[in-house]
Amino acid sequence: MTDNGTLNNMLTQNWENKVILVVEDIDTNKIFFDAALRKTKAKILWAIDGKEAIEMFKQNDVDLVLMDLQLPIMDGYTATREIKKINPDVPVIAQTAHVMSGEREKCLEAGCDDYLAKPIRLQILMDTLSKFLNT
Ligand SMILES: [Mg+2]
Repeated sequence: MTDNGTLNNMLTQNWENKVILVVEDIDTNKIFFDAALRKTKAKILWAIDGKEAIEMFKQNDVDLVLMDLQLPIMDGYTATREIKKINPDVPVIAQTAHVMSGEREKCLEAGCDDYLAKPIRLQILMDTLSKFLNT
């Protein structure tokens, strides 16, 4: 197998039976997630604020949440706490543009299972999702 083949295998996961809720308010970030996740065949649900995220989580059988922390109406920390009250077993991966110290702790304290710093690299996104979805 060529190096290229190995890389493709790492990036191309089959998650056709998985439902991923992406909570993101910025269009350009949505485009990135759509491009990255489309190939995996996962069902993608979109929410643009924390309140909508909680509603969608209640109404669907979600396998994983990708949660932006800076959101309108209700922030990602609050939404994560609410989601974890509903089902603590569903992994919530936070994504944030803020890299200040203390952010990671705040994030874990809210119940997030992992943390991605923006700009998110494709390989890191796929590695992190694989950790939680390929079980
Ligand atoms: Mg945001």
